[in-house]
Amino acid sequence: MKAKVNAVSPKSTNTQSTNQARPFAYQGRSLACSGVALEGLAQKFGTPLYVYSGDQILERRNLFAREFAGVDHTVCYAVKANSSLAILKLLAQSGTGFDIVSGGELERVLRVSNDAAKRVVFSGVGKQAAEMDLALKAGILMFNVESEAELELLAERAAKLKKKARIALRVNPDVFAETHPYISTGLREHKFGIDIRIARKVYRRAAKEQWLEPVGVSVHIGSQIRSTEPFGAALARVVDLVKQLRKDGLNIRYVDAGGGLGIEYGTGNFDPAAKVHEYANALKKAMGGLDVHLLLEPGRFFVAQAGTLLSRVLYTKVNGTKTFVITDAAMNDLIRPALYQAHHEIVPVKQSSSKKTIVADIVGPVCESGDFFARDRELPAVKSGDLVALLDAGAYGMSLASNYNTRSRVAEVLVRNGKAKRIRRRETVDEMLAQEVL
Ligand SMILES: *Cc1c(COP(=O)(O)O)cnc(C)c1O
Repeated sequence: MKAKVNAVSPKSTNTQSTNQARPFAYQGRSLACSGVALEGLAQKFGTPLYVYSGDQILERRNLFAREFAGVDHTVCYAVKANSSLAILKLLAQSGTGFDIVSGGELERVLRVSNDAAKRVVFSGVGKQAAEMDLALKAGILMFNVESEAELELLAERAAKLKKKARIALRVNPDVFAETHPYISTGLREHKFGIDIRIARKVYRRAAKEQWLEPVGVSVHIGSQIRSTEPFGAALARVVDLVKQLRKDGLNIRYVDAGGGLGIEYGTGNFDPAAKVHEYANALKKAMGGLDVHLLLEPGRFFVAQAGTLLSRVLYTKVNGTKTFVITDAAMNDLIRPALYQAHHEIVPVKQSSSKKTIVADIVGPVCESGDFFARDRELPAVKSGDLVALLDAGAYGMSLASNYNTRSRVAEVLVRNGKAKRIRRRETVDEMLAQEVL
């Protein structure tokens, strides 16, 4: 069943613009997540509260399965986008693999699945010996190596444990992708990957190591990339490299195309199915029939639009010419606006019959001027006690949450088949203070 989405544009509170991309819709005048009313969840579990539609996460997963059906491939969900165990389990059960960037993320994967380790790729520029050891023992599919120094350490650890490390070099293709500078990674000046121009030399060196097995080439050009063209351009360069490496006598069997496929955070129309179709076509075209196993590392695309951060309005106030709406959620719960100037739609959970709107800054209680969710935003007039939903908060929301201002990390709820389950309880003050020594 397709979740129906009627996200309400802040400018026209009572006309429902169809946006198939979100599982949030008004039932009567009350906003629901895949059919479950958010107001009831806020009452039961308190606010701020993250609520995710598991149904939508699986729908997104299925879009990839459908579009890449004709291609030998594995989807390795990027754990850092949302690393909640219940979400990882949901994905593991559908045969999904994982892209991890730390030993901690590997521990998460190991806790939700007995066999997912063999579908794990390990990315990141700063892997440490203990993390490599953990991954070698778990028998992960492949290390995406990002420097020659890392290669050296991995060869050492693999020899010590007598476990072959399957490796890909993460190459930096020097392809520009339009996105926020903090989440662009595919240019030579970025810290990520190995310059594609010296990759052959590094592969030759890796091939000499007894405990390293070069099996793949990997690339990841950034995040929240809306156009599919840069993905094709980067992959085409990788494909050329694979052909050269094969000529050099290496048995390259995997191409890891990375993640980064973006979503629509605003009110524009967005058709996720069409987007995945376009993305798959761009990759297939770049592959040009090359016989390899394709790895895909979507993160945001699977979880962002499935999630909302529910928050209660604490106060409203006027300072000079500005109106402020102060919510119980803050930048420690969702840092994207402060960190990337990211836009999130903010809608009331209960639609009012009045068409009255206000223009306000929506801010949290944290003592930073950067603690805002929106500035000069027009939204339906809200008052103290009202619930608002920050949309598209499922990715890089809870996974970047902190305890700044000694605020507890919030609870999370997952909705599946019309039922809501709390998948994480709110952190207590005792838990926050537990590691400290007086
Ligand atoms: C963050 C990351 C991803 C996922 O990016 P999204 O934009 O969430 O799809 C995939 N691969 C690597 C190596 C990453 O660092």
